[in-house]
Amino acid sequence: MHFSTPSRCLLSCLLFGATTLASRNNDTVSTCEALSSILPTEIFYPDTDTYNASISSYPFIQLRLHPTCIVRPKTAQDVSAAVNLLRDTGCTKFAVKGGGHNANVGFNNIEDGVTIDMQSMNEVEVVEATEVARVGAGALWQNVYDAVEPHNLTVLGGRIGVVGVAGFTTGGGVSFFSPSRGWACDAVVNFELVLADGTIANANATSNADLYAALKGGQNNFGIITRFDLQAFPLEGPIWGGRIAFNSSAEADLVSAFTEFKSSAYDPHAAGWVTWRYNVTTNQTTPTSILWYTKPEQKPGALKPIVETKPQLMNGMTTGTPREFAKNASMVVKTSNLNTIWATTTFKISPRICHRIHLAWKTAIPSLLSAHASSNPASELTFQSIPPPPRNDSSPNSLGFSATDTPEKDLVFLQIVFYYNTDASASKAFNAGLKDFIKMFDDIAEDEGVSSGWVYLNFAARFQDPLGSYGREQLGKLKRVARKYDPRGLFQKQLVGGFKVSAAEAL
Ligand SMILES: Cc1cc2nc3c(=O)[nH]c(=O)nc-3n(C[C@H](O)[C@H](O)[C@H](O)COP(=O)(O)OP(=O)(O)OC[C@H]3O[C@@H](n4cnc5c(N)ncnc54)[C@H](O)[C@@H]3O)c2cc1C
Repeated sequence: MHFSTPSRCLLSCLLFGATTLASRNNDTVSTCEALSSILPTEIFYPDTDTYNASISSYPFIQLRLHPTCIVRPKTAQDVSAAVNLLRDTGCTKFAVKGGGHNANVGFNNIEDGVTIDMQSMNEVEVVEATEVARVGAGALWQNVYDAVEPHNLTVLGGRIGVVGVAGFTTGGGVSFFSPSRGWACDAVVNFELVLADGTIANANATSNADLYAALKGGQNNFGIITRFDLQAFPLEGPIWGGRIAFNSSAEADLVSAFTEFKSSAYDPHAAGWVTWRYNVTTNQTTPTSILWYTKPEQKPGALKPIVETKPQLMNGMTTGTPREFAKNASMVVKTSNLNTIWATTTFKISPRICHRIHLAWKTAIPSLLSAHASSNPASELTFQSIPPPPRNDSSPNSLGFSATDTPEKDLVFLQIVFYYNTDASASKAFNAGLKDFIKMFDDIAEDEGVSSGWVYLNFAARFQDPLGSYGREQLGKLKRVARKYDPRGLFQKQLVGGFKVSAAEAL
C-alpha cells in the first residue's frame, strides 16, 4: 500500500530543491506527522522518554544527533509502511540505526530528519531442526548469544555483546570463530528486507541471489533488512581467551610477538587483536592483547608468542563461552561520554611493517594529543587478522576476495582510534589526524612493498572508500544490484549515511 504524498514536501522539493533548511524542517515535520498517522504508537518526538532513550543508546557522544522524529518499527510491515511514506515524500532524509556502533557521524542517525531505530525488532528465534537463528534486525549480539547457547549452539557474531547484528553483518563481521569459519556475513542463509518499493523480500542462495551477495558487504545500499537468518553451529565447549595488559616496557616486544604470530603457520583457532593505547595525561603507552583460542585443549597454538610476552601487569586468560566473553567485554566498553572516531587500513605482513607503523604512530601521537590535552584525549593502534573468504563459489560475498585468495594468512588490518571530550578544535585536529595517519601507514606499506588497498568497511572512516576497495568487478556488481532493486535511488539519496555505491570508485 502506498500512502499519499505530503504535498508540502513534494512541492517545496520541486520548486526549490531539497536544499533550503527552512523548507526541509517543515517538510520533515509534515513527514513525521504523516508517519504518526499511519504508525501512531511507533513515532517518538524530542523530550519524550523513548526518544531520549534512543538517543542515549548511541555509544559515542558524537552520534547523538537529534532527528525531528524517531520511528521504532515493530514489524517488517511497519518498516515497509515507513519506507513507502518516506519515498513518496520525495525528499525527507532518513537514517537507519541497528546497534548504533558505527563511529561515523550521520551514518546511523540524522539531525532534522527521520531516524528509523530498529531496536524494538530484537527477537531471536532458534529453529532447532536446521540450527538456524532467526534474528530481528535490531538485535544486539548479546541477544543472539543469550538465545542460542541454551541450545548448545553458537554463531559468528560480535565479540562485544553490545554491538548490533545489522551493521556488523552487512559490513563483513569478524568473530571468535572467524579464523576457521570466515566472515559473519557468510553465515547468513537468508536476509528478509524491505526494498525501495516497499516490498518485503527475501534474499538467499536461490531467491534474489544477486541481492544476497550484495548485502554481504554492501550494507545499507539496497534496502532495510528486517531479519537475518543465521546458520548457527554446535558449541563444542568453552573457548579460552581474555585480556592481557602488558607493562609499557613490553611495547616493542608485543609488536615482535604479533609479527611472529602472523608470520608463522596459519592457525584456524587463533583469534583476537593487540592494541597500544597512549594516554596524554600519564604520557604512557599501555600494550594489551584480547585473544581467543577456540580449541582450548590445544592452547595457546599460534598465540604463544603473544601470550608469553613479558612483563605482564594483568593476565585475564580464562575459559568461557562466547556468550560470557561477549557479555564481560560489554561491561568494559560501556556507553561513554567521549567522542570516539576511527579509521582503518590493511597491509601484508613482513618482518618490519608492524614495527615501522607502530613507531610512526608512537612518534607522532604525543605531540598531536598534547596540543589538545584539555580534551583528555587517548589514541589506540590495533592490529588484527582478516577472516578467510568463502571457499565455495556458489555463495559469494561482495568483499572482493576470490575463493582461492588467502587474506587470512598474510593480511593485517589496523585500526587507529581517537577518544576525547567534546572540543571543536580537538575534533578538527583528530579527524585530520586520522587522514594523515592512514596516508602515513599506507605510504610505509608501499615503501615496504606490502600494500593491500583493501579497506574494512566496519572500521572505515567517512573519508575512506571501502566499497571501491572491493575492486572494479565487485563494485560494478554492487552498482548494478542497487540500480535493479532501487532504480530511483531511494537508498542512495534519501537514506543518508553509510558508504554509498553511487559515490564509490573502484581502485
Ligand atoms: C565496541 C565495538 C566492538 C566491535 N567489535 C567488532 C568485532 O568484534 N568484529 C567486527 O567485525 N566489527 C566490530 N566492530 C565494528 C562494528 O562491526 C561496526 O561498528 C558496525 O557498524 C556495528 O553495527 P551496528 O548495527 O551496531 O551499527 P549501526 O551504526 O547501527 O549501523 C551501521 C550501518 O549499517 C546500517 N544499518 C543498520 N541497520 C540496518 C538495517 N536493518 N538495514 C540496512 N542497513 C542497516 C546503518 O544505516 C549504518 O550505516 C565493533 C565496534 C565497536 C564500537
